[in-house]
Amino acid sequence: MSSQVILAAEGVNKSFDGFKAISDLNFYLDEGELRTVIGPNGAGKSTFLDLITGRTRPDSGRIVFGTGLGEEITSRKEYEIYRLGIGRKFQTPSVFAEHSVFDNILLGLKGPRGVFRTLFAKLSSGEQDRLEEVLKTVGLFDKRHDLAGSLAHGQKQWLEIGMLLAQEAKLLLVDEPAAGMTDEETHKTGELLLSLAGKHSIIVIEHDMVFVRQIARKVTVLHQGHVLCEGSVDDVQNNEEVRRVYLGRGKH
Ligand code: ADP
Ligand code: MG
Repeated sequence: MSSQVILAAEGVNKSFDGFKAISDLNFYLDEGELRTVIGPNGAGKSTFLDLITGRTRPDSGRIVFGTGLGEEITSRKEYEIYRLGIGRKFQTPSVFAEHSVFDNILLGLKGPRGVFRTLFAKLSSGEQDRLEEVLKTVGLFDKRHDLAGSLAHGQKQWLEIGMLLAQEAKLLLVDEPAAGMTDEETHKTGELLLSLAGKHSIIVIEHDMVFVRQIARKVTVLHQGHVLCEGSVDDVQNNEEVRRVYLGRGKH
């Protein structure tokens, strides 16, 4: 079975006040792939996600999303890219604390069109089923009536992943999900992401090498906004250049 590219970034550059945050970046992701992106602080990882989601525009280069010919999203607006099926989870959880877990998932399903309208809209039975399925997938079905604000840190992160699933995002961009999690929460997050791969294409940015080892298939190492190397965890950990710029520092 041949795999199809779902995201291609080619020759992408982005400077901030003369500082090259992204430098001739070439990156290809296959449909259904779970890719882990690592790299030292300031390597351009979050900026890369900003470029994919339209939060930031590249100075040059192109980004194409979708299988087959795909669609160029380089200059699309953020909400258009969102609608094409790209969902992002930011580093810090941003759930609606005053609403129930269920309603948060519902807000993911309905999209950003106003909290009030969404919560009082009538749900079809198909939508209800889908919400329940998402709640079960992220392990929060039993918590569905609780306020999102009352959840533990890890559970909030899973809720946010659930919102992306409800949104039916084809491509999930997950920025440092394990940050601030206990070891057990981290492990559960890894299992969740592994279970979602295949059905979704996923880019996970992560620092925690234990977590990277748990989930990683192919790893991309970013350095100074450029792909330094790609391969298995062992490949990148044994790569001389990677050791020099990143792992060798003893600090991730
Ligand atoms: P990482 O996520 O790999 O730690 P970032 O992508 O956040 O790195 O940052 C890469 C570099 O780009 C950093 O030097 C950061 O200060 C700079 N940068 C990122 N976004 C902006 C912005 N909106 N304005 C100015 N500089 C930025
Ligand atoms: Mg970052």
